[in-house]
Amino acid sequence: MIASRTGTRRPITLRATALLVLAASVAAGQTPSRAQSRASSVPTPASVIGFEPGADRKLPSWKQVTDYFTALDKASPNVTVRTLGKTTLGRPFVVAFFSEPSTLANLGRYQQIQKKLMDPRLQSAGERDRLIADGKLVVLITSSIHSTEVGGFLTPLVLAERLARADTPEARQVLASSIVMLVPSQNPDGVDIVGDHYRATLGTANEGNGPADLYHHYTGHDNNRDWYAFTQVETRYTVDSLYTPWVPQIVNDIHQQGANAGRIFIPPYMDPVEPNIDPILTAGTNSLGSAMSWRMISEGFTGVATNASYDQWSPARQYSLNHRGVRILTETASARLASPIDLPFDRLGTGRGYDARVTAWNFPVVWPGGKWGIGDIVKYQTAASWAMLVEASRDRQGWLESYAEMGDRALGPNPPWGRDAWPSAFLIPKAQADTQALNRLVWTLQHGQVEIRESTAPVTANGKSYPAGSYVVLLRQPFGAYAKALLERQQYPDLREYPGGPPKRPYDVTAHTLPLLFGVDVFAVMGDAPSTAGVVREIPEPRFTTALSESRSKRVAIFRLSTSESMDAGWTRWMFDKYRIPFTTITEKDVAAGSLGTKFDAILIPDQGVQQLSRAIGDAGAGALGAFVDGGGTVLAFNDASLYAIDAMKLPVRNVLEGARNTDFYAPGSIFAVEVNRGHPLAASFMAPVPSVWFEESPAFEITDPSAATAVLSYPSSGNPLLSGWLLGAPKLNGKAAMVDVKRGRGHVVLYGFRPQYRGQTNATFPLIWSAIGKPAM
Ligand SMILES: [Zn+2]
Repeated sequence: MIASRTGTRRPITLRATALLVLAASVAAGQTPSRAQSRASSVPTPASVIGFEPGADRKLPSWKQVTDYFTALDKASPNVTVRTLGKTTLGRPFVVAFFSEPSTLANLGRYQQIQKKLMDPRLQSAGERDRLIADGKLVVLITSSIHSTEVGGFLTPLVLAERLARADTPEARQVLASSIVMLVPSQNPDGVDIVGDHYRATLGTANEGNGPADLYHHYTGHDNNRDWYAFTQVETRYTVDSLYTPWVPQIVNDIHQQGANAGRIFIPPYMDPVEPNIDPILTAGTNSLGSAMSWRMISEGFTGVATNASYDQWSPARQYSLNHRGVRILTETASARLASPIDLPFDRLGTGRGYDARVTAWNFPVVWPGGKWGIGDIVKYQTAASWAMLVEASRDRQGWLESYAEMGDRALGPNPPWGRDAWPSAFLIPKAQADTQALNRLVWTLQHGQVEIRESTAPVTANGKSYPAGSYVVLLRQPFGAYAKALLERQQYPDLREYPGGPPKRPYDVTAHTLPLLFGVDVFAVMGDAPSTAGVVREIPEPRFTTALSESRSKRVAIFRLSTSESMDAGWTRWMFDKYRIPFTTITEKDVAAGSLGTKFDAILIPDQGVQQLSRAIGDAGAGALGAFVDGGGTVLAFNDASLYAIDAMKLPVRNVLEGARNTDFYAPGSIFAVEVNRGHPLAASFMAPVPSVWFEESPAFEITDPSAATAVLSYPSSGNPLLSGWLLGAPKLNGKAAMVDVKRGRGHVVLYGFRPQYRGQTNATFPLIWSAIGKPAM
């Protein structure tokens, strides 16, 4: 995408462009009057949901949202609605396709064109120009994955009405050039979890606050950190039914941010950029985002920030940037759910990269302050998505040309960009310590459209020879760069707030190396690519099993706070459900009731702040936990919760990182090497070929009474333990314990100074949980 394609054409006024398009649609036989008579039968959102989208204190239920889409499907030939499956809690997950009727009637044909443009191996000689001439710009819009970002429940209704009605030249231009796939909610369960809670608390002191339960049953806000692991059904529907068959050129993800800085963020993103992302997509994202903010500011919108707050690093959030699509994240300022707030200009603050009270190149006009409510949110979100659709549709051909270009590069000379040599392939030996983890790796890659083959001759990698029939991931394939991102180790740049200053916080985490997370040996092959046979068929999703699966031999409790469940607790429940291990959820009230040993053998306390835990559990609860352990129970404490356990039960362990400033020590989501105490029973089933843990602002332990506590895992006594991601202050970890088994009375407290079940991804360290509960992994 060349910047000038969307950029320099912009000064032609909207009206002039509109006339051109109008002329084109008349020429195509679609007279305005016919289009308008069709438009009149299109229902308004208010006629179905009972209020105007954006009315203060009004949110739709999921049923109302789907009712509206069903009504549009009936009323307009420009809309086709499909149900892709049932959500985690059983609601319909829907997508609406918008285009001209003749396009919607031939979606299969357009999908074929798109596939051929994406993969030049499928093109016959000289076919490309024809494909570009005939193809459509495929745009995916996903909304309200985060359910407290409630404008996202309503904006899709407004966009859908506009596209279905098609009573403006711009709308007709979008439909003529594009296929728009609109997912009105990427988390339908959350529309009702938050909406029901909001309606129940209207007029009370609690109005505008979020619910106590996670708004996605397992993952809460982390539901948009699942875009390479595919652990949740909602991610799967969008990937399986939309991304994989369509590989859209543009993805627009509608979000909301905090209330107090800019009114909306639109890309360009901040640094860093994941180096495996095709630079065409970075440039295309920058170009389209800039065109959007240009248009919005021309329309009178204020407080528009670019190159701010959000970076372009983790593929956990950015599936499309790793799959040929620019990603247009928009983040509009929040109110208090659908209740308005009053925000004087003086109370506006800073976002990352700008100050909301100061005009700057990436914040060209300040918002004057005042009332801010759901109506404003819907207006901003709608304007941004509309700008995206219209600006992109101006240059359908340019988008398709650059899309085809990316296909050539992926299959062309190595490396396709940059100066560093790329491996020709990654080798995945079939003989692995953990077959379930191997299968998970293969499935995960294949599910993200990575082609896996088998070698036809022995392959030398890592100084050893691996037999024919080993798995091989060639880098020269449509999604080779994505495979590389997930298989290599990340070298996160040392970014500072200013030279010599504190580290610049990444937007999310800094590592995503699947072989380390899963505990599977994978080796880069440099030089010539190994000879391989055809692509291996996608393996079925592996079924995870441990000796605890479907067994009631151990009575396990997972702790959560009654007032708010942590995401880590949700991920813990996901993992137990995935392994089919029975458990009971308990809160501080159950703990305070005592007699825990009569009910449970093991209590897991997922990652949660010390203060929150101590305040909720109190002295009586802490006493009950101590008595539980003294009587023979096991407490497993993950990450920060381990500091609570140390405090509450006066354990002989100290966190050496306590009080460390981020200029001295910083690790916001990285993978570290550990040494294993092989004599310890808890480590017996820890089979990862490169023993490592997921460290995310975690503690590191020093044992103060070796007669009562033993290190199970420790950081190496010298050298840098960093394997993937970012670490400042490595020497502080040398020789410190990462996992400690503390004996107390007849029981144990197991302290994990890391997240052993990080976002459901760390298969490598799952066995350290099973062994502590009392049965080793199979
Ligand atoms: Zn969000």
